[in-house]
Amino acid sequence: MRRVVVFASPAMWHTSHGPDHPLKSERLRRTYELMQASGLFEAPNVRRVEAAPASTDELALFHTAEYIDAVQALSVGRTDVRPWRFNFGPGDNPVFPGMHDLYALAVGAALAGASMLARGECDTAFSFGGGLHHAWRDHASGFCVYNDIVVAITWLIRQRLRVAYVDIDVHHGDGVQYAFDDTDKVLTISFHQDGRTLFPGTGAIEEHGRGVGAGYGVNLPLPAGTDDETYLWAFDRLVPPLVGRFRPDVLVTQLGVDTHFTDPLAELALTVRGQEALVRRLASLAPRWLALGGGGYNVEVVPRAWTLALAVMADVRLPAELPEAYRQTYGGRTFYDESAPEIGADERGRVRRIVEERVEHLRGQAELS
Ligand SMILES: [Zn+2]
Repeated sequence: MRRVVVFASPAMWHTSHGPDHPLKSERLRRTYELMQASGLFEAPNVRRVEAAPASTDELALFHTAEYIDAVQALSVGRTDVRPWRFNFGPGDNPVFPGMHDLYALAVGAALAGASMLARGECDTAFSFGGGLHHAWRDHASGFCVYNDIVVAITWLIRQRLRVAYVDIDVHHGDGVQYAFDDTDKVLTISFHQDGRTLFPGTGAIEEHGRGVGAGYGVNLPLPAGTDDETYLWAFDRLVPPLVGRFRPDVLVTQLGVDTHFTDPLAELALTVRGQEALVRRLASLAPRWLALGGGGYNVEVVPRAWTLALAVMADVRLPAELPEAYRQTYGGRTFYDESAPEIGADERGRVRRIVEERVEHLRGQAELS
């Protein structure tokens, strides 16, 4: 049985990006409440931990000193720093009080998880408030200020551990891929909605790493409308053979659930059942596992998907019905979806053919027989 540490600090959901921002703090609070109501924190192999925020030295494992200074200054309302120089402003990356502390906490959780895994204190560490894969060394992007994933992977490879990174968020994991584009020490794999139709626009099939890192970056762009069946088929055809050949010491995953068919920001067509099946597959591939959250903007879906993910990690079988206490507050009946994505047979076939062609191209490129 895996020993699981789950990072959950109320400070993660007591800070707001503002009323109209899609990254609502409610997503994390409700996830925590559903995990708690489901009894998962009481499982004998699960431990809930509150991490400390990362120090500026720790943030500097990836970020520039100038950027960290600017984020700290903007977070306390200083006006001598120009926000747009670091890609802050109205829209995706607003400045708000407590911004530095909130994102430093996500990095602190990922680092604490990485170090517990390295010391053998747990087998799986899950920080569902993390997974901020778009943040760059010197600027914010796509709701992400500090990149908890890059900081944690950088720390892990300094301990001479081999890391494979799998990103199943609907958006391309650009910040992580580009941080490790020119090294063979980290294998990065990102499945995402095609960048020609979705932020951040990158992650084309031709992007596969540079220099000694050539072949150590894998991108599968998926057409809008890709459903559970096609997604899982592509996953099975690519991820187990690639990860198996790389033989990582630690698997790091970004578990964004904005692939859901009801997500307001994107157009893939997965269900909660499909997302759970993906987590099950990742669990079977992970020697030691640092699992991070990510996107997901339907607040009815995120708590269900990530609570099921924690149950898979801890090997706990939950009843399909949502716990009474949670239902009374938020409604809903079961962990699984009440409706299904509506995709016609023609559309399904068209998507399947595109995905098959791309998967076979990637298999050929990676010389998988
Ligand atoms: Zn996303």
